[in-house]
Amino acid sequence: MLPCANHPERSASAFASSTWLCAPCFFSLVEAEAKSAIARHGMIKPGDRVCVGLSGGKDSSALLLVLKKLAPKVGISRLVAATLDEGISGYREEAVRIAKSFAERLEVEHAVFSFGDLFGVELDDIASASKRNLCSACGVLRRRALDIAAREAGCNVVATGHTREDNAQTLLMNVIRGEPQRLARTAPKTDGVEGFIPRIKPFSYTSERDVALYAYLSGIAFQEKACPYRKDSLRLRVLTTLNKMENVRPNSHVALTRSIEKARDGLIARSPRYPLERCAICGYPSARMLCKVCQLAIELGFEAGRG
Ligand code: SF4
Repeated sequence: MLPCANHPERSASAFASSTWLCAPCFFSLVEAEAKSAIARHGMIKPGDRVCVGLSGGKDSSALLLVLKKLAPKVGISRLVAATLDEGISGYREEAVRIAKSFAERLEVEHAVFSFGDLFGVELDDIASASKRNLCSACGVLRRRALDIAAREAGCNVVATGHTREDNAQTLLMNVIRGEPQRLARTAPKTDGVEGFIPRIKPFSYTSERDVALYAYLSGIAFQEKACPYRKDSLRLRVLTTLNKMENVRPNSHVALTRSIEKARDGLIARSPRYPLERCAICGYPSARMLCKVCQLAIELGFEAGRG
């Protein structure tokens, strides 16, 4: 067993930042990375009330633990967790159970918001009634549901567990779809414009591998089963391609992310800001006459519900 670079008397548990580290040093490293991302992008101001989207997976569970530890240092005055239940039978029930018990273990207030209650439709219903891409429909509803969850919990910031690799995949997906205007959404912090709650991603500079190891070494129980609808997603295809590239050209993931990030940041800086309109149906802030949730509701024939 190799020794920790900082404490030679301890055996190392993790290889991170080109060094072998014991578990406490590795925890400090991951927490310092998140803290520095928070400071660098002004993600949290003293007194902020933060709602973490807790899926029951490793990334969001690790984020909840990190924010719980960092809360007094970064000035979080209220930390809550919200789990979305999209209505995917045989999959989401286990995740909800795991998320609930993890939030209890951390003594963090937790609530579950189901698509059925919020929108009157479950993802399984959409799957059986339509041939449309489920992940994109799910993404539209998830964004709205998390906004509602945060507002109902009295929070003014939403935090998600997206890692450096998640951001690389999303950046590339937006380029492949020819939607450069959506690149702004992949920023570590997206500003809240009227009616939207700002979103932050404190793991934006942390690798998937380090987040997984952090969860594992912390003894976090997380769901390993993948969503059954994921196999048809563009994200999975992009992930597979990026992993193949990584095998033949190590660090290509990071290089690609940095290149697209530069283009994104330039685009954000040059984009004029137009005031948002209100959706003609639900009144939610929207760039178009109808928001995406109401467009989806019309296409699929369900009630948009609480907007
Ligand atoms: Fe929704 Fe797709 Fe994620 Fe499944 S994989 S939860 S359908 S976004």
